[in-house]
Amino acid sequence: MKSHRQELWFEVEERRAFLNITPRVEEALAASGIREGLCVVNAMHISASVFINDDESGLHGDFEVWLEKLAPEHPHNQYAHNVGEDNADAHLKRTIMGREVVVAVTEGRLDFGPWEQIFYGEFDGRRRKRVLIKIIGA
Ligand code: ZN
Repeated sequence: MKSHRQELWFEVEERRAFLNITPRVEEALAASGIREGLCVVNAMHISASVFINDDESGLHGDFEVWLEKLAPEHPHNQYAHNVGEDNADAHLKRTIMGREVVVAVTEGRLDFGPWEQIFYGEFDGRRRKRVLIKIIGA
């Protein structure tokens, strides 16, 4: 069995953003040389997500509106967590959008369904953060 570990680093200029990281995961898969196996991609921070959905800007706007209804950023003092920090909403958004994805690797490719793409969801940006890619197989 082969194993490949790689980190992707980000420094998002906005507090919140969605980045399509599919090409970077595909590069990692190519570097791994693995043809059959599993690929796990996870955010290594508790205020960011990795999730799979459509690369469509209207939908991304809908996510932003929906997440702000569920866990609005403001006012910061509505959250018990926000003593000395202001990112309680980011923790909640991360939990809803998820920590990681698992994608099957088949014949050397990410075995996606129609329109599936992998996104990094940043909810408390403006600092360096990372994603872990782990691929195992043969
Ligand atoms: Zn926090």
